[in-house]
Amino acid sequence: MPNNINNNLNNIKKRIEDAAIRAKRDPKKIRLVAASKTVPVDLIREAVAAGHSLFGENYIQEARSKIESIGRNNISWHFIGHLQTNKAKYAVRLFDMIHSVDSLNLARELDKRAKKENKVLPILVQVNIAEEATKYGAGTDEVISLVRKISPLENLSLRGLMTMPPYFNEPEKVRPYFRELKNIQVRIQEEGIPNIRMDELSMGMTGDFETAIEEGATMVRIGTAIFGARNYSFSEKEFS
Ligand SMILES: *Cc1c(COP(=O)(O)O)cnc(C)c1O
Repeated sequence: MPNNINNNLNNIKKRIEDAAIRAKRDPKKIRLVAASKTVPVDLIREAVAAGHSLFGENYIQEARSKIESIGRNNISWHFIGHLQTNKAKYAVRLFDMIHSVDSLNLARELDKRAKKENKVLPILVQVNIAEEATKYGAGTDEVISLVRKISPLENLSLRGLMTMPPYFNEPEKVRPYFRELKNIQVRIQEEGIPNIRMDELSMGMTGDFETAIEEGATMVRIGTAIFGARNYSFSEKEFS
C-alpha cells in the first residue's frame, strides 16, 4: 500500500491545529510524536525529509538499529512502550524522553543509569486509569505517591503524565479517561511537589487524538494515520 507520508503529516497537523483552536488552545503547545514502531527506516526518513523531527519507539532493539541508521541530528527519539528494568541502561542512552515510567523500581534504575551517563533524563509517569490488567501504568491511587518518590531522584526530570486508555471505536467513550488524566495532573500540580514539573500530558492516538487535545493533551502519539497500518514482522517479539 503506497503511503504519502508528507500528505499524511500535513493532514494530521491540520487536524491537530483545528482541534486546538476548537478547544481554545495554542496549537504550538501540542507536539506530534510520530509513533514509528515496526515502521521501516525508509518511511521514517520520508517523514524526516518532510520536516518531522520527533519519533516514538516501543522496542529497544528495534529502536537502537533505527536510531543508529537515522541518527539524532535535530531528531528527538521518545520511548513510548513498556520498559523492562533490565533495559533501562539502553533506554537512557538512546532516548530523549521516556513516556512510560510505571514503577519506582524502574525510575530508580533509570536515575542510576542516567547518573552514569552524566545526564538528566526527562520522563513521564504512565497511568493506567482503567486499571486494565493487560496494560501497564500506575493505578490512579498510586500516582501521587509514585510522583513524590520520584521527585528526589536527581538524574530524572519528571515532566508530566501519559496514558493509554481502553480501546473504543468511538472517541467520545475515551473522553472520560483523558479528562481523568488531566484531573490527576491538576491534583499533582496543587501538591507543590519539589523538583518536578507537571506540564505534559501524553495522550491520544490515531483514533482519538482530537478528543485528547480537547481534554488537554500536550503530546499526541500517532502512528497509523502517518505511516499506514503496521506490519509487525519487522519488530522483535517483545510486545505485550
Ligand atoms: C503504537 C502506539 C501509538 C500509536 O498508535 P496508532 O493507533 O497507530 O496511532 C501510540 N502510543 C503507543 C504507546 C503506541 O504503542
